[in-house]
Amino acid sequence: MSDYYELLEVSSTASADELKKAYRRLARQYHPDVNPAPEAEAKFKEISRAYETLSDPERRARYDRFGPEDAGAAGPSNFGFGGGLDDLLGMVMDGFGFGGGRGPRGRPGPPRGADLETVVDLAFEDTVFGTEKDVTVRTAVTCPDCSGSGAAEGTTVTTCSDCGGAGQVRRVRQSFLGQMVTTNPCGRCGASGEMIASPCNRCGGDGRVTEERTYPVEMPAGVDSGTTLRLTGRGAVGPRGGPAGDLYVHLRVAAHPYLVRQGDDLHHRLPISFTQAALGATIAYESLDGEVELVVPAGTQTGTVFRFRELGVPQVRGRGRGDLLVEVAIETPTDLTEEQEELLRRFADLRGEQVAEPEKGFLARLRSVIR
Ligand SMILES: [Zn+2]
Ligand SMILES: [Zn+2]
Repeated sequence: MSDYYELLEVSSTASADELKKAYRRLARQYHPDVNPAPEAEAKFKEISRAYETLSDPERRARYDRFGPEDAGAAGPSNFGFGGGLDDLLGMVMDGFGFGGGRGPRGRPGPPRGADLETVVDLAFEDTVFGTEKDVTVRTAVTCPDCSGSGAAEGTTVTTCSDCGGAGQVRRVRQSFLGQMVTTNPCGRCGASGEMIASPCNRCGGDGRVTEERTYPVEMPAGVDSGTTLRLTGRGAVGPRGGPAGDLYVHLRVAAHPYLVRQGDDLHHRLPISFTQAALGATIAYESLDGEVELVVPAGTQTGTVFRFRELGVPQVRGRGRGDLLVEVAIETPTDLTEEQEELLRRFADLRGEQVAEPEKGFLARLRSVIR
């Protein structure tokens, strides 16, 4: 392992600024974008590793005392890679963040397929207990004849002669930093790096065909209208064996006849009679989880809320369920028989309450019939 200071062609007392200048000068000389020689890349890695260590005061101090870090312990150096020379110099000039690499250099590969979207309708109960639904989409799938290569049976895919399989073409230009190379996607092969002499009959060289696919999808309890599930890799496959996009499933939940969801709680406005409210009652209440006892104490007022813990909607992430809130609403009877009316008049009388006089005669009876 060469001495880091020697590699950067500076003295062991070089300042941070001198190190930076030296590295920039050497990067312009050895970066693979400007120097295609294979030794240049190795050299560039070495100077990058040296600069990575020496530009960090702590690591530089350690290096000065103990020498270079164990390569295994330090892990692979991604420094300086993953971007073009322009990016690298920009980073050095801005005074760098390490570890911001954008993946290894290499051929871009076939493009990723499109994301798909679909809507799934759920019953209200499904959001409380979860369910599994079959989701059917028309999507691009790998062509079964050519297995995605796009080449006709018996023929092969060849390397693009324009870009040599790189998928990118390089152009040299002059800039204030010296000779610079820009890379652009190859137009001839569509950046795939590959050429197909005789395309597959079935897919025309695209490597995929359109088909209907059905996926069983787990709908977790707690979802709601507007929830979107993402199914990674269930979208359209990319052309010529490219990776698949994702499938987004938007959920639409049907309304319940009387339950209203509020967050994780369920709300129900339950009508009860004024005698039940006044005298108290035990009501068999049909919750989504089955029958429960709703005990209405004597003297309950309209608007009183009874809470059943953990009979609401489960939380999508985490444990526990919301509550079921039953708000009682006292209903006034409108269909009194003559006997019932008599009893109520007697009741009002006993309480000294002023009530309307009874309607007498044919017209009143008629009104009560057509009501
Ligand atoms: Zn095909
Ligand atoms: Zn090409």
